Amino acid sequence: MEKNLQARLAERQRQSRYRQRRLISSAQGPEIRVGGKLLLQFCSNDYLGHAAHPALAEAMCAATASHGVGSGASHLVCGHSDLHHQLELRLAELTGRDRALLFSTGYMANLGIIAALLGRGDQVLEDRLNHASLLDGGLLSGARFQRFRHNDLADLESRLAALPDKGERLVVVDAVYSMDGDQAPLVELAETSARHSAWLMADDAHGFGVLGAHGGGSAQHFQLGQQELPILMGTLGKAVGSFGAFVAGSETLIESLIQFARPYIYTTAMPAAVAAATLASLDLMASESWRRERLHRLIQSFRERADAAGLPLMPSVSPIQPLLVGDEDLAMSISAALEERGVLISAIRPPTVPPGSSRLRLTLTAAHSDSQVDRLLDTLVEVFRRVAPELLFRQSSSDVRVDDQ
Ligand SMILES: *Cc1c(COP(=O)(O)O)cnc(C)c1O
Repeated sequence: MEKNLQARLAERQRQSRYRQRRLISSAQGPEIRVGGKLLLQFCSNDYLGHAAHPALAEAMCAATASHGVGSGASHLVCGHSDLHHQLELRLAELTGRDRALLFSTGYMANLGIIAALLGRGDQVLEDRLNHASLLDGGLLSGARFQRFRHNDLADLESRLAALPDKGERLVVVDAVYSMDGDQAPLVELAETSARHSAWLMADDAHGFGVLGAHGGGSAQHFQLGQQELPILMGTLGKAVGSFGAFVAGSETLIESLIQFARPYIYTTAMPAAVAAATLASLDLMASESWRRERLHRLIQSFRERADAAGLPLMPSVSPIQPLLVGDEDLAMSISAALEERGVLISAIRPPTVPPGSSRLRLTLTAAHSDSQVDRLLDTLVEVFRRVAPELLFRQSSSDVRVDDQ
């Protein structure tokens, strides 16, 4: 085992795919302390800047005083508190669903949902660019697993039409793609799925809190009810700024997950104080919509100015604004040159993205100031001119399309 692992590690290194963790010694925010140095970061998913907001911290402290730290047991034994319950009611209301169910993480929610609903003899169809947890859930379920071309309705339709006439069918997508920032065409996906008697599941990790009139996410944005989009999953560690995840849907769906979803049943409930902090974040989302508005203004102005500067934007309207580089080593060099200048943007390489599509995954948040975004653009232009001038003005942003290789 030891020898085999060392060989695999060496191979990783040789491919420029070796990953390393950075040690952060400050709270989340536009500026974070990394190894004693203050860096301007554009890589967190804290889109609304709630992660270090005092309202969340205060709610968490107060709930720790009343409910303690550990939840003591799983939800089904004796770990399900009144605070968890209140949060589930709020999430159901915000998403316009019958009920919502909390999971400890988004990864576990996706494994749990898909594997609880499907088994051998069933069919699962997933977008090629789906998050790893959705792909893993599909494989774990034992259902027949297919991937369709990214956002390609015709490919999905022909695969659905060719399915045998037995077993259940589930179509699974990211509502906003985590490494690309583009949206799934949920309205059309819902129609196609319904036409072929398939349920649709959307993972809204990057839309919840950001999209929709009240931050209710992609379902609210497209006005899709639980009829059209029966399984809506969202996470609480990104725009919401706390931790955990949920699924929202019908009474039957939620009761089934409570009975059958093993990553729900066999794990300790998240601390009640985390649920309290999440409730405080939802209050903030409702009372201070200016953060969402500011974020969308920043995204628009960043895109206009980056496009004018010839930076290799991808077609994204979300806070995720990747710059497509292609080569893994080049992506690493650009990221390192940015860091030397005090700007932190992570390079995303295979296997997270398809080979040849390495990129800088840049994210904007409502907490970034105008002058921080100015500095971002100036630094990007300087570094691209020095390190990768061939990528500037390569093609207009609307031509760039990364799909399955
Ligand atoms: C982050 C993410 C998850 C996992 O959520 P966690 O709560 O961090 O485990 C699932 N799906 C997508 C699309 C994500 O981006």
